[in-house]
Amino acid sequence: MLIHDLAIIIITLFSAFIMERVYISRYVRQNKEYYAQIDFQKAELLRLRNQLEQERPWTAKENYQDILESIQEVIFQTDECGRWTFLNPAWCMVTGHSHEESIGHDWLAHVHPDDREAISDSMQESIAAGRESFRRTCRYVTKEDKVRWMECFIQLRREQDGTFAGAYGTLSDITDRVLAEQKASRVLKDLQDLKYALDESAILAITDAKGVITYVNDKFSEISQYTREELIGQTHGIVNSGYHGPSFFRDMWTTIRQGQVWRGEVKNSRKDGSTYWVDTTIVPVLDQEGKPQQYVSIRSDITGRKQAEQQLIELNHSLKELSARDGLTGIYNRRYFDEVLEQEWSRSGRNARPLSLILFDIDHFKLYNDHYGHQQGDACLQQAAQAMQQSVQRAVDMGARYGGEEFVLILPDTNLQGAMLVAERVREKLESLQIPHARSPVSSVVTGSFGVASLVPEDAATAQELLAQADRALYLAKRSGRNRVACYEELADMLPGPDIEPSPYSFVQQYIDVLHAQDMNTWEHSNRVSQYALLLAAGLGLNEQQREKVFMAALLHDIGKLDIPESILKKPGRLNKAEFQVIQQHPQLGWEKLARHEILRMDREILDGVMYHHERWDGAGYPAGLQGKEIPFIARLLGVADSFAAMTEHRVYKRGMTEEQALEELHRNKGKQFDPAMVDAFAGMLAADETDPAAVSPKAGEE
Ligand code: GH3
Ligand code: MG
Ligand code: MG
Repeated sequence: MLIHDLAIIIITLFSAFIMERVYISRYVRQNKEYYAQIDFQKAELLRLRNQLEQERPWTAKENYQDILESIQEVIFQTDECGRWTFLNPAWCMVTGHSHEESIGHDWLAHVHPDDREAISDSMQESIAAGRESFRRTCRYVTKEDKVRWMECFIQLRREQDGTFAGAYGTLSDITDRVLAEQKASRVLKDLQDLKYALDESAILAITDAKGVITYVNDKFSEISQYTREELIGQTHGIVNSGYHGPSFFRDMWTTIRQGQVWRGEVKNSRKDGSTYWVDTTIVPVLDQEGKPQQYVSIRSDITGRKQAEQQLIELNHSLKELSARDGLTGIYNRRYFDEVLEQEWSRSGRNARPLSLILFDIDHFKLYNDHYGHQQGDACLQQAAQAMQQSVQRAVDMGARYGGEEFVLILPDTNLQGAMLVAERVREKLESLQIPHARSPVSSVVTGSFGVASLVPEDAATAQELLAQADRALYLAKRSGRNRVACYEELADMLPGPDIEPSPYSFVQQYIDVLHAQDMNTWEHSNRVSQYALLLAAGLGLNEQQREKVFMAALLHDIGKLDIPESILKKPGRLNKAEFQVIQQHPQLGWEKLARHEILRMDREILDGVMYHHERWDGAGYPAGLQGKEIPFIARLLGVADSFAAMTEHRVYKRGMTEEQALEELHRNKGKQFDPAMVDAFAGMLAADETDPAAVSPKAGEE
């Protein structure tokens, strides 16, 4: 930028200098004409005076005295030895030396010492050559020791026989003119130096008002590969790379035509077609009316910087791309998915188009890992990711790894029907990979469950709601047998309708669905509790009817939580005392909910289970503080299953314990929190489950 500012200064100075030159030369020209005229008149006057003096000495003096005194130029006469014989009053005015101290003295006495020899030589030469006159510029030193530049016009007088008789002539003070010329040539020198510096450092071009190039420096030729001859007479169109749109140059012209400086970064093209970048400043040079008469452009090569910038952009891009990818499968990760979901949600909202999501989860993947090892598990996830990617065709569809063995697909501009088809395609593709899964209760090969949701975004809704719907649909697919596609609409259809005569069991399911719709964690938890409760029920030797009750009670045990504010239920940190008291009301609330519905005809045991599942063997539990066998049998059973499920669960805010750790915890609290007999029976069943997976099917109760 410095160089460009410098350039502007130079151009300004340059214009000023040109003006001054014009002025000076005009001044000099006029002066010269004037002097020539005066010289002629003076010479004529002197000649007449000499003639008259010789013929009629008395009249001449009187007639011309006045004229001589009024003339500004010094008029002089010397004898043949170079001594002043006459000086008019202008001598005194210009040099300060008086008439008396000059007359009779050598005419060289007041010439500047440095000029004396030169003017004396000129005089000798002119005399020897027989010349009539000569002109010479020399410096005189004034009385005050100042230097005055004088233009001397010297006529030589000769006797009849031609011998030198003395000189006469004029001395004109041209000091002002000489100083002005000296100043001008100094400025010119400075400008030449600056131009040299600029030429060495910048790419320069000058165009006329129409943009036709009139001057380029070597650097322009160097960078553009065009010779000076090829450039001059062309416009800058010759180096146009086509990179900038027409509006770019239109704006530039608008600016400079108004007489303003334009700055910008321009990508130009060389003769061989390669390109370069220049930082460009265009300065309009204005005429007297303020209209641009030419444009000076100063450019510096910034190709290197531009390349570095481009590399940085690319590096950033690849870093961003890298941070958007999942390390294991190479597809997009959760972080990037969240970003895209928000964007697509807004876009679909703007266009009033449906947005669909497919969330899918590998079935019984924990068992897969347990059986084949983590490494093969990883490979399986990679294959599943590939299967998903291969099942979508449109570029706008985006797949991502949502979490461990969960994947997600965003399908913009796709309705539910379309999304269901895509989900089915992915499901089939995954199944068709035929990855063996020996321990899967669903199939002999790896399968997945799919949840689909579709919404046209509206102001009130959020992308998170769409995600939650897909999540619930996924759980529906899990619950209805896995290896299938379910959608949120199916789930909504299952909620109680006005004219269906429900069986108590379907009512329980509906309750669970309602619970499910509001709080996924509780629903999942209840399902797990029911599985552990069934395991324990089997261990305690309960019959099928009793097991059915245990299963129902387990599914319903937390239903009172529906009435607990979400802010407390989902609070991630520790609960305070008041909040804890609210939570502690859920057994009572659940009991009330179920008992109110006569149509449910809930068995006493089920209600007991819901009411007392937080009692403790040592009497320190809630809500009744019952102790030991005062606590209903089914509630003691649920207490163990509930705690075990809770301890092994993963939550956003906590990692679950392993089954071994949780079992140790149960043993530690035997006789304090838990019925010791129940803990032992549970431990026995878990051990059996571990050694023989077929002994108790994890989903025995559901079938
Ligand atoms: P469901 O059919 O109900 O989905 O049962 P599941 O066993 O698939 O579900 P669960 O959530 O209980 O277990 C998921 C398992 O996925 C647990 C975890 O070890 C495994 N997992 C998660 N991420 C990875 C991973 O990156 N690599 C491997 N090998 N396993 C993973
Ligand atoms: Mg999962
Ligand atoms: Mg799974």
